[in-house]
Amino acid sequence: MMKRKLLALGLAMTTALSLCGSVAFAEEETEAGSEAGTESAELVITDDIQEIIDRGVLRVGVKNAVVGFGYEDTLTGEYSGMEIDIANLIAEKLGVETEFTTVTAATRTELLDSGDIDCVIATFTITDERKESWDFSTPYYTDYVTVLVEDSSEITSLEDLVDKTVGVSSGSTSARSLVEAMIEAELISGDDYDSETFDPALWTDGVSFQQYDDYPTISTALSAGEVDAFCVDKSILAIYKTDGRSYIDAEFAPQEYGVATTKDSGFSAYVDTLINEWLEDGTIDGFIEEYALG
Ligand code: GLU
Repeated sequence: MMKRKLLALGLAMTTALSLCGSVAFAEEETEAGSEAGTESAELVITDDIQEIIDRGVLRVGVKNAVVGFGYEDTLTGEYSGMEIDIANLIAEKLGVETEFTTVTAATRTELLDSGDIDCVIATFTITDERKESWDFSTPYYTDYVTVLVEDSSEITSLEDLVDKTVGVSSGSTSARSLVEAMIEAELISGDDYDSETFDPALWTDGVSFQQYDDYPTISTALSAGEVDAFCVDKSILAIYKTDGRSYIDAEFAPQEYGVATTKDSGFSAYVDTLINEWLEDGTIDGFIEEYALG
């Protein structure tokens, strides 16, 4: 589902105002740079970026149910969260509008590869394996993986997950993270574990997995008892932690979120320069504080 947003809103606007000098400078630079080749060494306008500028729209893949990161108000269609604000700031630098497409862990890379979107800002964890296929910016946030259970299950720890079935999203790092944490805690042997060939669908040593295309379906499966537990990043689980559900007492596998772009594109370098600028000048910290993500 596509939504268009004309300008940065709320906090993004506040932040943009505080960055007013550099935003104005960047816009002048963009125009001058594209016409006269005078762009700075750091923010080079390559052909792929010029295409976005000419189109007048930056198309961004975001989450729609991760509060504080990418959340869509179903009544108004408005998206909010730090990932939305980051997208709006990048678009402002380019002098274009933002168009959001809701993505899932299962769809985000296809949409980037097909050219339907220019970047993914969607709780997308940077991994060495993924870096072979896409570029990632410097991380803007680090989350951890945990596990959500029904209180009635009496599961409270990693140990209690031995021989249980866990719901995870296709295309996520979750199953791998849980298996590695259970091996580390010496709850399962790990003799058969090979990080290169690991496949959640085939893993049955001490824990097994059901894979789903989206998180609401895993939440329903948890209620129905189809799975014993729901494993993913804590930021993503938050919306599903309703009364009668709890996290187990373990957080593991740091998840560094980066903006993903097409491998070796000019836009990758452009975005990374901006993220670094916003890490240094406190913009990112401001989002973390504003959305109480610390
Ligand atoms: N952040 C994790 C990943 O990139 C969890 C999946 C998700 O982002 O939906 O695999």
